[in-house]
Amino acid sequence: IDDADVEKHLYKVLLIGDYAVGKSSIIKRYCTGIFSPNYKLTIGVDFSVKDIEWEKNKIVSLQLWDIAGHERFGTMTRVYYRYAIAAIIVFDLSRPSTFDAVTKWREDVNSKVVLANQEPIPVLLLANKSDLSTSYVDSDMLDRFCKENNFIGWFATSASSDTNINEAMHFLTKEILEVA
Ligand code: GDP
Repeated sequence: IDDADVEKHLYKVLLIGDYAVGKSSIIKRYCTGIFSPNYKLTIGVDFSVKDIEWEKNKIVSLQLWDIAGHERFGTMTRVYYRYAIAAIIVFDLSRPSTFDAVTKWREDVNSKVVLANQEPIPVLLLANKSDLSTSYVDSDMLDRFCKENNFIGWFATSASSDTNINEAMHFLTKEILEVA
């Protein structure tokens, strides 16, 4: 392969949401295909990279940033948001308080990052841990919520049973390529 013919686009994507909703697990599942119940990144901002062969000779490289413990402060610094082209807000279907926090995280994104053209970055909502028997998904409510709060859409995901993670990331990547 002649590397000179391959276009490579790198995009920074943020994962945010309350503690223990599954942000690290989603990143790990998507980037390595593995779920480990005890996995935890060390405290500090960290990222993983996923390369997608989007088209022949076009590689989309998603740099997925994990806030890794800093979410307990409720907001992130501007430095963390800088140059992000998209964000994913995650909540835990089995813990309603993590959904209550979604609007707060949405406002944090809105106030700290915009695209080069000053438009808001695309933000996707993930309702994680859909595998748990305590999980209940109110689709109509989430549809409405996404419209009212300017999310590009939502998926019910499970990092542990590998449900909808690839679908969600594919959907987000398409949106990224529209605004990039
Ligand atoms: P973070 O703090 O948001 O990064 O959350 P973690 O990825 O560390 O996950 C918190 C806990 O939830 C860990 O014990 C994970 O094993 C568990 N977890 C993450 N995703 C899922 C999921 O989809 N289903 C279930 N049942 N547990 C999950």
